[in-house]
Amino acid sequence: MSRKYRIGIVGCGVAGAASALFLARDGHDVTIVEQAPVLGAAGAGILLQKSGQTILQHLGLREHVLQHAAPLEELYARQLSGSTLIRTRYADYGPECCAYGVHRGMLFSALHSELWKHGVQIATGCVSESREIDAQGVWIRDSCQRRHGPFDFLLVANGSRSRMREACGMRARTWNYAHGTLWFIAPLRVPGRLLQVVRGNRQLFGLMPMGDGLCTMYWGLPERDYPALQKRGLAALKQEILTFAPESEPVLEFITDMQQLHYTSYRHVWMPRWFDRTTLFLGDAAHGMSPHLGQGMNLALVDAYRFSECLRESQTPHAAFTAFRHKQRAYLRYYALLTFALSPFFQSDWPILAWGRDIALPLLPKIPYVKRQMLMTVTGMKSDFFGSELQL
Ligand SMILES: Cc1cc2nc3c(=O)[nH]c(=O)nc-3n(C[C@H](O)[C@H](O)[C@H](O)COP(=O)(O)OP(=O)(O)OC[C@H]3O[C@@H](n4cnc5c(N)ncnc54)[C@H](O)[C@@H]3O)c2cc1C
Repeated sequence: MSRKYRIGIVGCGVAGAASALFLARDGHDVTIVEQAPVLGAAGAGILLQKSGQTILQHLGLREHVLQHAAPLEELYARQLSGSTLIRTRYADYGPECCAYGVHRGMLFSALHSELWKHGVQIATGCVSESREIDAQGVWIRDSCQRRHGPFDFLLVANGSRSRMREACGMRARTWNYAHGTLWFIAPLRVPGRLLQVVRGNRQLFGLMPMGDGLCTMYWGLPERDYPALQKRGLAALKQEILTFAPESEPVLEFITDMQQLHYTSYRHVWMPRWFDRTTLFLGDAAHGMSPHLGQGMNLALVDAYRFSECLRESQTPHAAFTAFRHKQRAYLRYYALLTFALSPFFQSDWPILAWGRDIALPLLPKIPYVKRQMLMTVTGMKSDFFGSELQL
């Protein structure tokens, strides 16, 4: 390593925590500023793809995380009528390949416990609002007017709703999706696959195991329908889900109160440039997207790994930012554009897209080249639009 840097990181999610860990292991002096008062194990089940598994391996956390995760052999989606929409078997990608369903909170806990061991400073309960630059370096100013720093440079990893983009004068466009999802975690073992049931692109049910005897159920709906759904009450909602997907029955037994269901909306973030002289944006703050391809957390992990690699190989932080852009651009643009283009086929108010999807999706995997591209995409291993495989 050429130099030891003082690095400030905004946000202790997957991107922030994984970056901190890689950088602290390289001997840098790392401080995270996180808005949550306590670092806790929150969140739903997520898909840990082959790309994310590889990064956890580099962090030495793969085995630990997988002990608390559930292997998924396939992604299976059917229409309400019962006909198969798509069945993607991970073994078709490679003999040992599978995804893992994992509790987001479990992944956070694994990362957080390592942060302490590697001497990363974490300032919790501090909402970062802006950045200041003076002769000593770069500072983070929080909502209580405290200053954190000085740092040689900043990584901003505070999620898709980041206001630091604006505060740092970075150009960004964001789109709020009209549809989101209600999710629930049940103490129940379910078969090792991601099951989805769809009707057009207005209704969507999902069920996924996530290790430690837990599973996540989700129910997609337009955000504007959420108040009416709450008014109709829990019994009506449970009946609707049960009729839609009978597999939900044992899960629904654990839901006794509407408060147990969490609603999440999503947004797409596009930044033409992720960095300036002192600050680099990572993870959802730089390229937030809907969860339809199940890649966001995996991309955040790859960002963290790739940036630490770039810093090791570069003479200055700015050179590392430039190298990072060079390495990640095609890969991130591929997943961002594909997710942006595909999301309305699964959740939107344009039924014509669902009709097209229902015709095309069962046929596409019959073409061997397309099937291979689809497998590379879902495993998180497609490096760009032109078919090459990600090297991690
Ligand atoms: C319903 C749903 C399902 C998903 N399923 C999958 C999946 O199956 N697979 C997958 O790969 N991805 C999935 N994702 C996406 C995944 O969760 C995100 O892409 C991933 O968490 C991004 O990590 P991040 O660290 O960039 O941001 P976040 O996880 O959002 O973390 C941001 C952190 O910054 C903190 N913060 C925010 N603002 C401030 C501030 N002003 N100051 C200080 N701290 C701040 C937050 O408290 C948080 O700790 C899903 C997302 C949703 C909503």
